[in-house]
Amino acid sequence: MRFLPVFLDLAAGPVLLVGAGELARAKLRVLSAAGAKVRWYATDGDHDLSGLGPVEADRVERAEGDPLAADLSGVIAIICAGAGRIGIAMATRAKSVGLPVNVMDDLEHSTFIFPAIVDRGDVVVAIGTGGTSPVVARRVRERIEALLPARIGDLAGFIGRFRKSFAAQIPEMSLRRRFWERVIDGPIGALVLSGREQEAETALNEIDDPSAFAGARKGLADGSVTLVGAGPGDPDLLTIRALRALQDADVVFYDELVSPEILDRIRRDAARVAVGRRVGKPGIGQEAINRLMIEAAQQGQRVVRLKGGDAFVFGRGGEEIDALRAAGVVCSVVPGITAGVGAAAQFEVPLTYRNEARRITFLTAHKARDTDAVDWSALTDTRMTVVVYMGMTAAPSVRAGLLAAGRSPRTPVGVFAKVTRPDQQSAVGTLDQLPDLVEKIDGGPAILIIGDVVAHSAPWRQQNLKTLSQVMSQLLEPAE
Ligand code: SAH
Repeated sequence: MRFLPVFLDLAAGPVLLVGAGELARAKLRVLSAAGAKVRWYATDGDHDLSGLGPVEADRVERAEGDPLAADLSGVIAIICAGAGRIGIAMATRAKSVGLPVNVMDDLEHSTFIFPAIVDRGDVVVAIGTGGTSPVVARRVRERIEALLPARIGDLAGFIGRFRKSFAAQIPEMSLRRRFWERVIDGPIGALVLSGREQEAETALNEIDDPSAFAGARKGLADGSVTLVGAGPGDPDLLTIRALRALQDADVVFYDELVSPEILDRIRRDAARVAVGRRVGKPGIGQEAINRLMIEAAQQGQRVVRLKGGDAFVFGRGGEEIDALRAAGVVCSVVPGITAGVGAAAQFEVPLTYRNEARRITFLTAHKARDTDAVDWSALTDTRMTVVVYMGMTAAPSVRAGLLAAGRSPRTPVGVFAKVTRPDQQSAVGTLDQLPDLVEKIDGGPAILIIGDVVAHSAPWRQQNLKTLSQVMSQLLEPAE
């Protein structure tokens, strides 16, 4: 390591910037966005501040005259960008008075370099490669960006606000450290990270005996449940927050719809419990699932309830939250890509489309009971896209219901099965053909999408191309 990362206090004094053109302006943006007061010697005389906001522009002092003769008292660092030979001369001067200097893209004349930065407010990560490869630094930054919760800076700020008052309450340092570890790792930290700082503050203030809280057996009373939407199958469609929850979990209760590739993303040491129903086989039942989750959370475990798609779209997430809340268990919800939206993206079905489709209805048609309960007359608007969950077996009733309500038998429909998985399948046609289309599919789960927008889908266009080429080849065939 040649360059030691340190953090410069920008409140301590101005930074001298020497240079011109886009290179100097890029540095100007970085510095003023970070809050620096910048004294700028524009080597071409053009102090162009366009691209800066009024607040940032206000922090820039347009310096005139020869930078090599500038008064350096109080200056905390010198940066040369697009300054040519003046930059090199400036570096010599800086070194002679012991000021840190950076000459852009010139390791030889620099005594410090700029890292790639991940900026989360109070939390800042600096990434350096010793000046060897900014591209590598950027790649590392992307990884860290994905890893760090967006509100990690808020969490640091939150703790900063309460640190003094708890320091007085917990005099012993190691106990104090453990106290904050438990706050960060437990439900209070989770609340801040999900933007619920007010609730976090209430929970923090409700700790009556901070020393006891810090000293309690690890894990005790820290339990929580996170409902996580796993999306339709492809693990790349997990949200970053979902991935983090899977990595933090002690135990995961998952449904049959969750793909093995997603189960692979669960922390290795976490317990995994399958609780879902399979077609034909009952699961352990909703009440038993609720009971297991509550028990695990009350034992201090971090519980993840992992569901296909989104927990709040035909996922019984609402019932589970009710039960958890009634039991006093801290819970939160991480959204997932619901199967209908996954199918739309995968097969290029725009669910809304200018004047063609202005409304979307998500409905379930699992059992005859459901299809009887559907008010089909509410679905006659031709500018409405209808997305049907669990509709494979009920396809004939869906067709009958929509036709009886007056939807055209020529309405485009698509059946999209196992979407985003390696063995996904589709069949497109018209509402009239819906039950036959379902027959073409080798098994679910499948989503039905009904509406004119299906005519924009990739399978529809391919099918039309096929018919077109069949017609063409028939035309081209020599007559007998
Ligand atoms: N909460 C889930 C839906 C659960 S209901 C979600 O938001 O997606 C189960 C139904 O979801 C299935 O019958 C099927 O209609 C649909 N489904 C789930 N995963 C699917 C997939 N990968 N491909 C197609 N349909 C899927």
